Amino acid sequence: MTAFPLPPVRGKILEKASLAPYTWFRVGGPTDALFLPADEDDLQGFLAALDPAVPVTVLGVGSNVIVRDGGIEGVVIRLMGKYWGEVEALDGITLSARAGALDLSVAKAAAANGIRGLEFLSGIPGSVGGATRTNAGCYGSELRDTLVALHGFRRDGSPAAYRGPGKPGAQPEAHFSYRHTDLPDDLIVTRLILEGTGADDPAAIQADIAQLQARRGETQPIKEKTSGSTFANPDPPGTPDQRSAWKLIDAAGCRGLRVGGAQVSPLHCNFLINTGNATAADLEALGELVRRRVFETQGVELRWEVRRIGRLASEA
Ligand SMILES: Cc1cc2nc3c(=O)[nH]c(=O)nc-3n(C[C@H](O)[C@H](O)[C@H](O)COP(=O)(O)OP(=O)(O)OC[C@H]3O[C@@H](n4cnc5c(N)ncnc54)[C@H](O)[C@@H]3O)c2cc1C
Repeated sequence: MTAFPLPPVRGKILEKASLAPYTWFRVGGPTDALFLPADEDDLQGFLAALDPAVPVTVLGVGSNVIVRDGGIEGVVIRLMGKYWGEVEALDGITLSARAGALDLSVAKAAAANGIRGLEFLSGIPGSVGGATRTNAGCYGSELRDTLVALHGFRRDGSPAAYRGPGKPGAQPEAHFSYRHTDLPDDLIVTRLILEGTGADDPAAIQADIAQLQARRGETQPIKEKTSGSTFANPDPPGTPDQRSAWKLIDAAGCRGLRVGGAQVSPLHCNFLINTGNATAADLEALGELVRRRVFETQGVELRWEVRRIGRLASEA
């Protein structure tokens, strides 16, 4: 039983659910209640009826988070299942995607419909909801470049909509920067309208996606329990002679460094990996050790890109 009443829902509520299985790192303590809404109405009704004092956190597929060992207080929401993964082509250049859709599914749906310009999403292992919050990007493109509009709910269940940067419309414009958006913290994104750059032969786009994926597999430990780039590159994209976080970490002698079950990936040293029995505390301590060594040897203060959320074990 949770310490607060839970509104009736049509989806699922898992009380005292461990969050480790819901993150790529496979670490993290429990939440009071994990809510898997059936659809938008279910989500909105739940948010409106839930005691406003109860904290709510939304997770995508957990590919950019360390959930701490003490877990997350209140309710964690995950948009998963067939409904939340729906992607639909609207015309020759735009798609509608629910927030739980995987970036890869969106890239593939775009390709199947002959829409070019969304291939980069195939390199990001998250959901499009998570990609919005993190302004995910690779190979020179970011989520913001493709965003026409987004819809969602605030913590109190009120609907909210934003238009993409530079797009026409009456809604407020969403602002993004490198791996960041200033959308309200309590916004749960439920649906996006995305657009490509033009039309092309589906087979040609699919071949490019296959090539991007093969390149990733060679240069990144994508089969490990990881969370992608741990630290942001210190200079904004486009800066001449941009410094890479991985080069600084390598130069500081941190490749392969370990704390408990956490290790700096020997393949790509801006990735931390859980070698099997790491705790969130191991991963965080390793990240802090890397930051300290980079600062001491290179004079650069690295900024965490991975989001660390929840309570320490000692705070739970
Ligand atoms: C192997 C690997 C490679 C990666 N490569 C890249 C890369 O090239 N480029 C890149 O940008 N990232 C990369 N990442 C990081 C990660 O995949 C992205 O940041 C991704 O966008 C996170 O999406 P997610 O669904 O996993 O979100 P989560 O990790 O679950 O959550 C991330 C943040 O988004 C918020 N969030 C999630 N869903 C919603 C929603 N519906 N509404 C509002 N907020 C939400 C969460 O609260 C959290 O703050 C990589 C990760 C891995 C493991």
